[in-house]
Amino acid sequence: MVEGQVVKLDRGFPLVRTQEGDELRCKHATALVKGEKVRAVIGDKVLIDVPEGHDKAIIAEILPRDTVFVRKDPTERALPQVLAANFDRVIVAQPISDVNMRRLERELVLAHETGVEVAVVLTKADLAASDEDAERIAEEVRGLVGANDTVLVVSAEEPESIAAVRELMAPKTTTVLIGKSGVGKSSLVNLLVGDEVQATAEVREVDGKGRHTTVSREMIDVPGGGCVVDMPGVRGLGLWDAESGIEAAFSDIEELAEQCKFRDCRHEEEPGCAVRRAVEAGELSPVRLDSYHALRTETAEIKERREEASRIRSRRGHPRRRT
Ligand code: GDP
Ligand code: ZN
Repeated sequence: MVEGQVVKLDRGFPLVRTQEGDELRCKHATALVKGEKVRAVIGDKVLIDVPEGHDKAIIAEILPRDTVFVRKDPTERALPQVLAANFDRVIVAQPISDVNMRRLERELVLAHETGVEVAVVLTKADLAASDEDAERIAEEVRGLVGANDTVLVVSAEEPESIAAVRELMAPKTTTVLIGKSGVGKSSLVNLLVGDEVQATAEVREVDGKGRHTTVSREMIDVPGGGCVVDMPGVRGLGLWDAESGIEAAFSDIEELAEQCKFRDCRHEEEPGCAVRRAVEAGELSPVRLDSYHALRTETAEIKERREEASRIRSRRGHPRRRT
């Protein structure tokens, strides 16, 4: 048995790189996929059998995952699906010329839910109306993300701007890159990689609604700095039931809230609200508080809808799902 890591997933068999550096296409052992259908994901550490005279090795065991990136079905019809494992940082990319704060806050919640460090990279700085404009938007985003997350601005036209991103990526660490299609993730990866390694073209496939989705996932080595995995955007990554993610993404607000006069303070009109006091004192960005409110409301609405749906289901006499 040899230990390795899944470094590429496409339409073929998972590609596993062994600790010796060999790359082998692998099948899952029947015992692994029987019943629960456990499949290795990008980043998984696995134990493989390399049978003599076969063209494929066999994944016998998936080792425990340190971190996971999970796609949840908002309707709960499907089980949560792990999309990537064993990474150290999530980078959220958005174009500076077209930042969508609502999307960004969702992406941040999703990123924080994984428990790793988070950074925002604002791309396409050359398309900003002016340098002042770019700086203003970057400041607004810094207000949204909170003090613990790095915000960087890059442009494909200025390869030097990528250096700060590369600095985040220490050797032997893995970074997951998320962001809507078209925000410039591939361009960012190409700049990170430079000419030394060639990023392979994405395999695209049309989903049920005629949209193109990336199906290939690969760990791409960044010279001198760990590796990066390009992931699809939040669309289709339904992040709901993300309360713990909201708490992590807005830990500063949650902390302030402990000093509010009322335990169930909504930080709106209540007297003795420590959160609004922080906004008034300029210690907390009002944009950030707005986001927090918007996400809270949305999460509560979804929860309510879900409970309603489950009431209807049980009234119709469907058996309850056992937990
Ligand atoms: P992805 O879908 O997120 O991987 O995005 P791509 O990297 O494929 O970029 C989408 C489009 O934006 C392409 O046409 C790129 O040439 C363009 N693009 C990416 N980065 C920049 C940039 O820094 N400046 C400008 N002007 N265009 C960019
Ligand atoms: Zn309050």
